[in-house]
Amino acid sequence: MENGVLDKLQRPLRDLRLSVTDRCNFRCRYCMPEEIFGPNFPFLSPDKILSLNELVRLTRIFVSLGVRKIRITGGEPLLRKDLPELIYRLNMINGVEDIAITTNGSLLKKFAPELFNAGLKRVNVSLDSLDDARFLQLNGNRSRVKNVLEGIQAASNAGLKVKVNMVVQKGKNDQDIVPMARYFKENKHTIRFIEYMDVGNSNGWRMEEVITKQEILNRIGEVMPLEPIQPNYIGEVATRYRYLDDDQEIGIISSVTEPFCSACSRARVSAEGKLYTCLFASKGYDLSHFLRSEMSDEEIADTIKNIWNNRGDRYSDERGEGNISKNRPKIEMSHIGG
Ligand code: SAM
Ligand code: SF4
Ligand code: SF4
Repeated sequence: MENGVLDKLQRPLRDLRLSVTDRCNFRCRYCMPEEIFGPNFPFLSPDKILSLNELVRLTRIFVSLGVRKIRITGGEPLLRKDLPELIYRLNMINGVEDIAITTNGSLLKKFAPELFNAGLKRVNVSLDSLDDARFLQLNGNRSRVKNVLEGIQAASNAGLKVKVNMVVQKGKNDQDIVPMARYFKENKHTIRFIEYMDVGNSNGWRMEEVITKQEILNRIGEVMPLEPIQPNYIGEVATRYRYLDDDQEIGIISSVTEPFCSACSRARVSAEGKLYTCLFASKGYDLSHFLRSEMSDEEIADTIKNIWNNRGDRYSDERGEGNISKNRPKIEMSHIGG
């Protein structure tokens, strides 16, 4: 495989995460706590957000630099009315090998068939508990569990491959690890457990609230024995396991206790078109400015190439080494979508 554009640590640019809106119909405490993201929060005005044409053009430019996989995220991407059309047009770009969406699932029941017909093949649905009271507590009273489970069912019925993401927080939903594992084992969907991360500055993250990969594995393995399986590809963020009694797979994303910066090939673009070269970046590069100027695709590609060539981000590795200042400003998760 050719290497395309490399950063300072020889990591290629392979994945693009497009946040298509900064708005969300949930208020998960670890991402958009209600007291900060309230009615007066200055969300982006529609003219600031990248249009469909701008998103398609930008993706084409990234693909010319070596990007092969696209993830659409938010905020809540399904709030964006032109999402099926976006999927359809991104699918037409020569060189795009994979498109996925990360969603809270609340609107999937309505939109899954349309997304499938637009060419989407897979979707990751976030769900942090099967217990209604806890789920409501976690999402700021916005949705019951049933709503998301119906969304998952609708996606599956429409022909989409579904993976479920659960962010685990000690004392908030760690009692749900085993019930979630069991439920999705029975329903034959891959679930990925995500270590709670210190993204942004508004969730008050503390290391004591992290349940480690090892502990998650221990808790599940005690009741449903597991064995490791090979990664699908180099740089896969989730480590994979399978249950011994069937072929059902689970994954664990251990960005806190076992960071994977050395293979990180992901660029992130926020809804207003800022490029971030790390989930924990303090600053972004305003690409909307270039898209709305006279610059050609080649000139914009050159600019992005330069930014990538100068990238040295390895925040999670540095956190592991104890080299992160507590006061370092970071972009909010809802702004770049994970
Ligand atoms: N709204 C969509 C959703 O919830 O799937 C997409 C955007 S959301 C920011 C993307 C993912 O980031 C979700 O799976 C969410 O659970 C995860 N996430 C948000 N804050 C997090 C944190 N502090 N640590 C780990 N994962 C987090
Ligand atoms: Fe919304 Fe997703 Fe953030 Fe929850 S995690 S508030 S659903 S963007
Ligand atoms: Fe990539 Fe930054 Fe996460 Fe490391 S901390 S894996 S560089 S996004």
